[in-house]
Amino acid sequence: MLFLPALALICLLPLLALCAEDYYTLLGIDKSASERQIKKAYRTLSKKYHPDKNPANDTAHQKFVEIAEAYEVLIDADVRKIYDQHGHEGVKQHQQGGHRPGGGGHDPFDLFSRFFGGGGHFGGGGQGGQRRGPSMEVRIHVPLRNFYTGAAHDFKVEKQAICEKCEGSGSEDGQRDTCAKCNGQGMVIQKHMIAPGLFQQMQMQCDACAGKGSTVKHKCKVCGGSRHVRAEEAFELVVEKGMPDGARVTYEGEADESPDYVAGDLIVHLMQQEPARGGEEEGGRTDGTFFRRKGDHLFWREVLSLREAWMGDWTRNLTHLDGHIVQLSRKRGVVVQPGAVEVVDGEGMPVWRHEDGPEYGNLHVEYTVVLPDQLDQGVEKEFWGVWEKWRKKNKGGVQLDRDSGRPTPKEHGHEEL
Ligand SMILES: [Zn+2]
Ligand SMILES: [Zn+2]
Repeated sequence: MLFLPALALICLLPLLALCAEDYYTLLGIDKSASERQIKKAYRTLSKKYHPDKNPANDTAHQKFVEIAEAYEVLIDADVRKIYDQHGHEGVKQHQQGGHRPGGGGHDPFDLFSRFFGGGGHFGGGGQGGQRRGPSMEVRIHVPLRNFYTGAAHDFKVEKQAICEKCEGSGSEDGQRDTCAKCNGQGMVIQKHMIAPGLFQQMQMQCDACAGKGSTVKHKCKVCGGSRHVRAEEAFELVVEKGMPDGARVTYEGEADESPDYVAGDLIVHLMQQEPARGGEEEGGRTDGTFFRRKGDHLFWREVLSLREAWMGDWTRNLTHLDGHIVQLSRKRGVVVQPGAVEVVDGEGMPVWRHEDGPEYGNLHVEYTVVLPDQLDQGVEKEFWGVWEKWRKKNKGGVQLDRDSGRPTPKEHGHEEL
């Protein structure tokens, strides 16, 4: 009977081809992953591959279904054990024996709605009638150098999440009973007698179930029956090079969750952190000098001594936001006026989503000149001598008023030197 193994192999081939991907690989977790990690992986991936976000993409749709399948198997400790020992085939046999993983669903959209509320879909276009929750706005402050170099920034937001323990039912055993008072309508009719024999009917929200139409006998211990909890969720914010201060980044469907509505959007306002004066942080300067940003340009104040401003022959190595050096210098005999601004091309901020034109803005360096408080006696004497000699030779020195084109005053004018 040689043909039997061969036949078996032929039968197996299509099975192998269809063989589903390993559930752990699918969720991007390792074999020792905790329940929490499994949930987190599901949350992230199900949103990424949701058909609403990938219209007309069959691969994504398939992946969305597989992720739900993987989740339902791995989240059930018993089924997970079977999967770990016997793989997909073992789980299949277990399910054919009448067991359902997680006790529920099997509709990937149903599972999705247990995590994110609503009807298993994202809000917005095409989901007519689906109520949408409020948006949330947060401000995230990042240092200027992150705007310059681009960076990934992790942040956490505390928000309302659907209770994972009861999957948003509010019930310890998952059981919700139809409200006896309103028969599940959520509304009751009340009759008021407004005059003898004259009644007025009014429809009011049922107070027994708060309009929900159902009640819970055994309240979930985690959420106390409220169906949601406050939880911290981590997000990653990608700061793109040159993004403007105050840029808005939207995380679709990441605001407060509720079984009653589709979660709104989480809107992040990206703000520039005020530089800390004398801060210990890396790149911080202790003299209170730092880069200031205006759009695509940067501003810097550089301090020169009297000698440097007047006589020249100096060099400054400016450490830029990414650590590269911008050298400023003057040769001997080159004067820098106090308050003079030097524009260094291409050393400003990167231009956000740069396409045409310059890739970087400019750096504006403003010079401040500091005069000495006191002169050494010897130096003072020598300078005085030099000035006196020069004044006598030039008959009172250069007249600023005359040089600037103003009429020469009768009184003694200002001298340049
Ligand atoms: Zn609960
Ligand atoms: Zn009721």
